[in-house]
Amino acid sequence: MSVLVMKFGGTSVANLDRIRRAAKRVGVEVAKGHDVIVIVSAMSGKTNELVGWVEETSPLFDAREYDAVVSSGENVTAGLMALTLQEMDVPARSWQGWQVPVRTTATHASARIEEIPTDNILAKFGEGMRVAVVAGFQGLAPDGRITTLGRGGSDTTAVAFAAAFGAERCDIYTDVDGVYTTDPRITDKARKLDRIAFEEMLELASLGAKVLQTRSVELAMRYKVKLRVLSSFEEQSDTAGTLVCDEEEIMESNVVAGVAHSRDEAKLTVLSVADRPGIAATIFTTLSEAGVNVDMIVQNISEEGRTDMTFSCPTGQVARAEDALARIKADGKLNYGELVVDKDVAKISVVGIGMRSHTGVAAKMFQVLSAEGINIKVITTSEIKISVLIDRKYMELAVQALHDAFELDKVA
Ligand code: ADP
Ligand code: ASP
Ligand code: MG
Repeated sequence: MSVLVMKFGGTSVANLDRIRRAAKRVGVEVAKGHDVIVIVSAMSGKTNELVGWVEETSPLFDAREYDAVVSSGENVTAGLMALTLQEMDVPARSWQGWQVPVRTTATHASARIEEIPTDNILAKFGEGMRVAVVAGFQGLAPDGRITTLGRGGSDTTAVAFAAAFGAERCDIYTDVDGVYTTDPRITDKARKLDRIAFEEMLELASLGAKVLQTRSVELAMRYKVKLRVLSSFEEQSDTAGTLVCDEEEIMESNVVAGVAHSRDEAKLTVLSVADRPGIAATIFTTLSEAGVNVDMIVQNISEEGRTDMTFSCPTGQVARAEDALARIKADGKLNYGELVVDKDVAKISVVGIGMRSHTGVAAKMFQVLSAEGINIKVITTSEIKISVLIDRKYMELAVQALHDAFELDKVA
């Protein structure tokens, strides 16, 4: 019997009506003969509310208790989805992460899945159950405590189940009908892609396109999971949505596949540090130990043996970065002038496998931004992407201008 994984995101299970609509989609697949594993997110807005309660209660919270609270939204939707299916006479039951158990690392709030035993659920399929509804986002640490997989983590739960059960496909049902050339909320010229390569999707996700969690794309690529993104609001066919697949399976593609943006970025500059071996190691070891996820790094030209070190991190981690850097200054471990913080920046990136063989993408990107009067604060590149930090107030304008300039509304 073939297993299909269907994941429903927050907006797709936002109320009882939507849960019923999603359950009907599941019913269609069951009728086709599939055994289905349904992964559900919390109702939309629920996880944000839970995170807010935790932060209000304890600003520097214990991440184990954060997970205890924040994982709970998915329990409600898993139970309600199983009940809805039962009402439709589809044999179904729910599982919370710990009951499977979805074994993870102990890195609370951003745990990684290590193992998903299949025997328990397969035995139930063997007894006639047709749908296993699993609460997404949740895991079990080696010490028995509940973990979560990071925001957007239900996508990763879905792909991990698809890999573990050798599923025929992993369908991610969401509020857009596929992966677009850029976030369709920013420009109505965004074009839906029929296919996108794993590597491009991986970059877009990690650079801010939240339609899939980065880790889910990594897992799909590694375990060759057939991954599809589609709308839970439209009538479906077997070819609907966007297929995330190997580069070789895509016939035509533009040099630039998409534009991504990340809103909550901050830029920090440590002024006047000594330009000698060990300084970068001291700064970035300190930040890493403080739990700061550093993204871009630039070291400026040195003058008279002193230099400036600039880096970016999520705005939510600025307080931790400031605290850690002030501490090593006070301890005499690092001598520097001032720490300059700019919390109003955004990151804009263009991504495309075509950049491996085409030159001039960076030049064009910089020209486009300059023509709009947008100043670039930091630049980083890799083989298939170029990212810049700019003032946040220009974020939408930059995405729209780049989307137009690279003609992403058209197929090359
Ligand atoms: P879910 O709750 O179903 O997991 P998310 O909100 O996490 O949904 O992800 C879907 C959203 O991702 C869309 O509503 C869209 O605004 C955003 N998004 C960002 N970039 C893209 C893109 N390139 N293609 C499609 N959606 C995108
Ligand atoms: N509910 C979790 C979140 O909002 C996980 C998910 O929806 O993927 O981040
Ligand atoms: Mg999501």
